[in-house]
Amino acid sequence: MSIKYIKNELYIEGLSAAQLAKLCGTPTYVYSKKLILNNFNNYKKAFKNDIVCYAVKANSNQTLLKILSELGAGADIVSGGELFKALRAGIDPQKIVYSGVGKTAEEITYAIESNILMFNIESYEELCEINKIAKKINKTARISFRINPNVDPDTHKYIATGKHGTKFGIKYEDALDMYTAASKMSNIEIVGIDTHIGSQILKVEPYRLAAVKIAKLIDRLEKENIILKYIDIGGGLGIKYENSQKPPKPAELKKAVMSVFGKYKNKTLIVEPGRSIIGDTGVMIGRVLYRKKSGNKNFLIVDIAMNDLIRPTLYDAYHNIIPVKKTFKKQIIMDIVGPVCESGDFMAKDRKFPLLEQGDLIAVECIGAYGSSMSSQYNSRKRARGVIIDGKKIIHIRRRDTFEDLLRLEENLEKIS
Ligand SMILES: *Cc1c(COP(=O)(O)O)cnc(C)c1O
Repeated sequence: MSIKYIKNELYIEGLSAAQLAKLCGTPTYVYSKKLILNNFNNYKKAFKNDIVCYAVKANSNQTLLKILSELGAGADIVSGGELFKALRAGIDPQKIVYSGVGKTAEEITYAIESNILMFNIESYEELCEINKIAKKINKTARISFRINPNVDPDTHKYIATGKHGTKFGIKYEDALDMYTAASKMSNIEIVGIDTHIGSQILKVEPYRLAAVKIAKLIDRLEKENIILKYIDIGGGLGIKYENSQKPPKPAELKKAVMSVFGKYKNKTLIVEPGRSIIGDTGVMIGRVLYRKKSGNKNFLIVDIAMNDLIRPTLYDAYHNIIPVKKTFKKQIIMDIVGPVCESGDFMAKDRKFPLLEQGDLIAVECIGAYGSSMSSQYNSRKRARGVIIDGKKIIHIRRRDTFEDLLRLEENLEKIS
């Protein structure tokens, strides 16, 4: 995303951030169409004959999904709601894979009837449930198993998913039994194998290590005459939240896994990027409300809160924050916090930042992924507006909640009994 100062004023994709704030109010999520195209096309180039399934949970906005759908993206979904949104955006069901440990009967039925490419199954009981439902509606469900390869992706513990002791995937040692059981089920067609080791991964080596383990399984399965069409390597490639971070490019990821999977000629790779497609394509513009001191701490209170961006609270995540009007004021150590009544409501902790004044604007960078999609109305706050910059145009992609929206689901209710 092009974010730079021109004559001490911040410009986002060539548009004045102050002007954007005036037009759209604060807080507002601002995305760049150009960068979304760029990020997706980097994947498409690297994974030419493969399937790139965008992980919808990173950001499920309809306009963004439609942009990706038009570029040929598939979808990695984790709920019936995401399936609904992906289909609505025009994503080809034959490019949709369904992950997640707790798929309900209703969701499974919907996915089978939508003819998705495959379920990534995470437990034996889920396998039985999918077979049972497929049988009931007289269909065959295509499946793969999500294997937990027990590798350490070297990331935050809440986003490490491929180690033992997390709730995700099938234990590596149980995989063969699981495939054998599935091969005997009437309404199951085994088509693939899957793994997803975590998120914000900044090296390709954990992917290669996982690939080595998956390849061993594939070879073992072939001996049992279980032949797979798809190898799903999951998502999780990191982005540059901090200057010191050097995330690998999609092409490097492809190279690392192909050093292992290259020997398979008739299999299609699937990759499930979320953050690395949408993360760096968004900034959030907000405004300083107040300043205060408590003990020996300085606080800058802004109108962006954990209900708009929960990543700092949830994962101790770092987001770069910059003033919209460049200032040469002295920088001091402060916490940048929101209005929500939680001590965990912060955008930055112990950050060196200029002591801005009431009404000054700030921009929080890299909020495209897990920003808007994790937003809530906590504290009965109106969820923020979203806009996308397309050339010189500003396109509205989500309106700000109104007070009425805060009541919408709690009024005019039908009787239950
Ligand atoms: C969250 C998730 C992804 C995407 O992860 P990113 O870090 O956003 O790339 C991919 N696959 C599965 C199964 C996931 O749960």
